[in-house]
Amino acid sequence: MPSEFEVIARYFSRHTRTASLGIGDDAALVMPSVDSELAIACDTLVSGTHFFADVEPAALGHKSLAVNLSDIAAMGGRPRWALLAITLPEANAAWLEAFSEGFFSLAKQFGVELIGGDTSRGPLTITVTIIGEVVAGRALRRDQASDGDDLWVSGQIGSAALALQHLRGNLRLKGLALEQSMVRLLAPVPRVELGRALLGVASSAIDVSDGVLADAGHIAQCSGVGMDIHLADIPYLPELTRFKADPLFQHALLAGGDDYELLFTAAPDQSARIAAISTELALDLTRIGRVRDGSSVDILDENGIAMEISVKGHDHFA
Ligand code: ADP
Ligand code: MG
Repeated sequence: MPSEFEVIARYFSRHTRTASLGIGDDAALVMPSVDSELAIACDTLVSGTHFFADVEPAALGHKSLAVNLSDIAAMGGRPRWALLAITLPEANAAWLEAFSEGFFSLAKQFGVELIGGDTSRGPLTITVTIIGEVVAGRALRRDQASDGDDLWVSGQIGSAALALQHLRGNLRLKGLALEQSMVRLLAPVPRVELGRALLGVASSAIDVSDGVLADAGHIAQCSGVGMDIHLADIPYLPELTRFKADPLFQHALLAGGDDYELLFTAAPDQSARIAAISTELALDLTRIGRVRDGSSVDILDENGIAMEISVKGHDHFA
């Protein structure tokens, strides 16, 4: 079995171009760009909680970085550097090879450099810390939505949650529906370009990690506003239409986590700009609701009547 230092050298040390000092010293050194604020976040994936222990290691490498890139996307930032703290039950060469391949291919796609981390032995757990940059004073926050804004969402919602239900045996997806949903669960694409395009356009933003209802609730609470969301307007993959009547479907749309799409608010006079961004990025952007006075987030049926909803978003301690 390779030693800790061999693991770091073989699988995680890569030459860095933008960091003044990368892996190998007690700390990395980076120089932020002028007029930027650093946007910093971390996310942990725990075996058995966030993924099945036998998940494809390349997918895990991809996802451990993707969920962090998504947080930078939600702030309207440009991701730049990452740190990787990995706890492994054993140093399996094939597993590490695939994991690092998944991690670095996504890192390359988004111009992110791995500049440090920590390696230890124990139950499989991965924590990535991401450092991004955002134009000073312009970040997309959760606390700036205002009465009258529209509520928008990118891409499609619920696919990752339905793929998970499939893996758990609660639903049977097939063909294209299965293929596409599984990609959303295992290898989500962080909406980094969208976040940056929304600077100066959106009034607030969040990434959908806990479910639309819970994440809209986070914006509502931070901004001190209420929201109405039209259930029928929440976009989903057309391949999943035949599951519409399944109770798991509505649950996935409202409370399914793991989609990593962006949910954002914008003044109605930004609609044309948002449509242009959608075309530019070839990414669906759908208006699903409205910000209003109050504090509740209501889900409206086809008649505009608030529905009785008992579903809640993901909460590790609930
Ligand atoms: P220290 O004992 O000073 O904390 P380590 O021996 O843990 O240093 O790490 C040596 C170097 O390798 C450091 O630069 C650290 O950031 C880096 N490193 C350790 N583990 C990882 C990892 N999984 N991915 C990337 N860099 C790592
Ligand atoms: Mg250390």
